[in-house]
Amino acid sequence: MSKGVLATEKRGIRELGAEEFVGWDEVTQGTVLYSFETEVKDVAHIRPEERPYSDFNSYTATVASWRVIKPIYNRDVCIDCQHCWVWCPDTSIISRDKQMLGIDYDHCKGCGVCAEVCPTNPKSLIMFAESEEIEDALAKWPEKKKKAK
Ligand code: SF4
Ligand code: SF4
Repeated sequence: MSKGVLATEKRGIRELGAEEFVGWDEVTQGTVLYSFETEVKDVAHIRPEERPYSDFNSYTATVASWRVIKPIYNRDVCIDCQHCWVWCPDTSIISRDKQMLGIDYDHCKGCGVCAEVCPTNPKSLIMFAESEEIEDALAKWPEKKKKAK
């Protein structure tokens, strides 16, 4: 019997109506949660918004409520190199036909990887507080840094 598992009031045993703790070998077997409503082939060639994601898929819900800083994108400096798109661990950079379009704030976790790998001077992605307005951030974007002689 393990009291550490599912021990909070917000998730697990109470919501499942299972007030009694059970041992690992008594746990009800789980179920399979399918990513898509129907069978999908060549999913990499279907745009995310056109894929038949199921309600269980995290794509259909925002999962970024605990983000405290966010990347803000400046189109004026971007060179569409796609580094941010390649490196983002949450597939939260929106890019079409090799053109960077912006951030998917419903899924971005605010990790800062995209801003870190952005090669422009100044950067085209900078991390700001979650509460920052995009227009305000763009208005105070840093100038190009000169090389030290
Ligand atoms: S902050 Fe992290 S999760 Fe958000 S877009 Fe950048 S790399 Fe992706
Ligand atoms: S890494 Fe920077 S320059 Fe490259 S596409 Fe992303 S925002 Fe644009």
